[in-house]
Amino acid sequence: MTQQYRITLLPGDGIGPEIMAVTVEVLNAIAAKFALKFDFTEALIGGAAIDATETPLPDETLAQCKASDAVLLAAIGGYKWDNLPRHQRPETGLLGLRAGLNLFANLRPATILPQLVDASTLKREVVEGVDIMVVRELTGGVYFGQPKGIFATETGEKRGVNSMAYSEGEIDRIARVGFETAKKRQGRLCSVDKANVLDVSQLWRDRVTEMAQQYPDVELSHLYVDNAAMQLVRAPKQFDTIVTGNLFGDILSDAAAMLTGSIGMLPSASLGDPGQPGVFEPVHGSAPDIAGEDKANPLAQVLSAAMMLRYGLDQPEAASHIEQAVLGVLDQGYRTGDIMSEGMKQVGCSEMGAVLLKTMDNG
Ligand code: NAD
Repeated sequence: MTQQYRITLLPGDGIGPEIMAVTVEVLNAIAAKFALKFDFTEALIGGAAIDATETPLPDETLAQCKASDAVLLAAIGGYKWDNLPRHQRPETGLLGLRAGLNLFANLRPATILPQLVDASTLKREVVEGVDIMVVRELTGGVYFGQPKGIFATETGEKRGVNSMAYSEGEIDRIARVGFETAKKRQGRLCSVDKANVLDVSQLWRDRVTEMAQQYPDVELSHLYVDNAAMQLVRAPKQFDTIVTGNLFGDILSDAAAMLTGSIGMLPSASLGDPGQPGVFEPVHGSAPDIAGEDKANPLAQVLSAAMMLRYGLDQPEAASHIEQAVLGVLDQGYRTGDIMSEGMKQVGCSEMGAVLLKTMDNG
């Protein structure tokens, strides 16, 4: 029986519409191959929404996203909207979308593709074979804990305060995403905290350790965040899946991403409660410097669609098919400008899409 999915497309700004167009073609090809049906509905977000409706996240967009099985987002922002007041900025639309869909888990892979190993600033022998997934808690911790603010003390001196707080429920739900993700990968989960100093981290460690009993097939380890940062650049191959809080995850996911050295190749997923729609988007921004020039690398967006299939729609074979096709086009030597190297064939965004479709056809 054909499995049918409602997908909201949010092309956004800058290179967004170009990379989204390629990705929709890829998904249509996947649908035909795997007996799936995607009902795509496009909606406005970011600068495009501001221009049309004066708000970066119109109510209809959020309602549309909530009614979907998954949301595929490209990128938002650009020079034109940089000086608007905060509530009208494109980024406010993105934050509103995450809050509106209760997306508490952010998954960011850092995979070194063999064809792009020299794009990393680290030595080949250190990064070759790296395949890490960072699962970051996204809606709690020190970014949201109360009290927060800048307060005047009795002496008149100001004091800045943020509170790092996690409840058992918040820890349990992100830990579960960590274990479930590790299960879909190599079955190794490293929980990162600062339990030697922070009480909130001690609770984090206790809850994660307790949950491990429900996942006997996942091997759990713990690292303090300072050591994790060192290990990521010293010996990144030791990691499979990392689960951590908001602040540590913010820093570690950027460090892990940079092991790969190529921003145009990095997808991400943000997930809420099971059964609720997730948002799948590239890590990069709207690249206004190359927008409309057919120079953008569409592969991070295409790989975000693969993450949507794997983590949002539970279609791992279809996801693998896309990932294999991406490796295939790189094997054939096709490169967009951002990942170009000597001896390779430089192509634009749409041609990259065309060779990808051809490769999928033959796969
Ligand atoms: P950016 O990621 O858009 O661009 C950084 C550099 O990488 C640029 O030189 C760009 O040309 C290049 N680049 C990025 N993606 C590429 C791709 N797919 N193919 C080829 N080259 C690519 O970051 P920025 O320049 O700091 O921000 C530009 C705009 O994007 C800003 O308005 C910013 O607020 C917004 N932004 C949005 C998101 C998002 O939508 N999630 C994330 C980051 C930045």
